[in-house]
Amino acid sequence: MNKEWTCHIVEDLLPNYLEGLTSDETNQFIEEHVNTCDKCNELYMEMKTNVSTDENIPKTELNFFKKVKKARLFASVSSIIIAIIGAYLLYSSEFSYTNEPSVLAGAITEFTSFDNHSPEAYVLESREVNGRLIVYFKDVNNPDVYGFAQFVKGWNQKYRIIRVNSNPVPFASGFAIYQFDTRGGTYYAVGCAQCTEPLNGYELPFAAGIEDSEIFSFEIRHHQFLNIHSDDEIQQVLQEQTGEVYTYQLDRSELKLLDSEGNDITDLDKTVDTTGSSGSGTGKAETFLLYVFMTIVLLLGGVLARYFWSEK
Ligand SMILES: [Zn+2]
Repeated sequence: MNKEWTCHIVEDLLPNYLEGLTSDETNQFIEEHVNTCDKCNELYMEMKTNVSTDENIPKTELNFFKKVKKARLFASVSSIIIAIIGAYLLYSSEFSYTNEPSVLAGAITEFTSFDNHSPEAYVLESREVNGRLIVYFKDVNNPDVYGFAQFVKGWNQKYRIIRVNSNPVPFASGFAIYQFDTRGGTYYAVGCAQCTEPLNGYELPFAAGIEDSEIFSFEIRHHQFLNIHSDDEIQQVLQEQTGEVYTYQLDRSELKLLDSEGNDITDLDKTVDTTGSSGSGTGKAETFLLYVFMTIVLLLGGVLARYFWSEK
């Protein structure tokens, strides 16, 4: 075998030799050659240095990857925490009102402030039903204008305003009716600010098509009140009484105010003219959108967490 061939063979075997994969005979052959051949010796020394450096890399790499892994875990957990805090802040910025008259009044006024006929609300009464806080208020600037506002209660026990409806009322007493829906069904809120003598009761007439109206009478016990009547209960009583399964509708035009004798004194309480008095404001907001935004924030947090945590 000529020297050039031997060099080629040794050159090919050196990597395996350095990793200890070659047999004793081969080792002897390589060592003998390397000791006598400058070129291969040089190559051998060079490769040996590289291998020993390669052996060092795993340790530093391991430490490096440990650090990177820690940083990735930190970033991942942080993005989840930040997303949760963000979602909570979003939530508490919306559910921010307490159940105090002045706070509720401020909420109503602010909520309708985009409206030209925005009321300056003064809260008269409030009642909670099925997670809804119903607020009966009057407009400080327009004596004929009364309204109802709906608030939803949040996990944080605070309220978010979702709807306001205020209108000129044709009664001197401020008698007003407001219909609203909750998950637990439809309700009628009846408010009155100055239900003084001779007012002693009111009648809610319900009609089903051309059938005669069925009447519900309620006694007035306070000069100012907010009563809430469940439509389900009214429908149930009506269907039991009439034996019919119609859906009865409240007929506002047949609404009556009564004195203690049961006489109709609606006209007595009617104000001459309410058309001249301005002021009606409405506004509504959907809680649904808040949950959409909160979900987006949480999803972004999750995506970021996944990105930081992924192996790449
Ligand atoms: Zn050689």
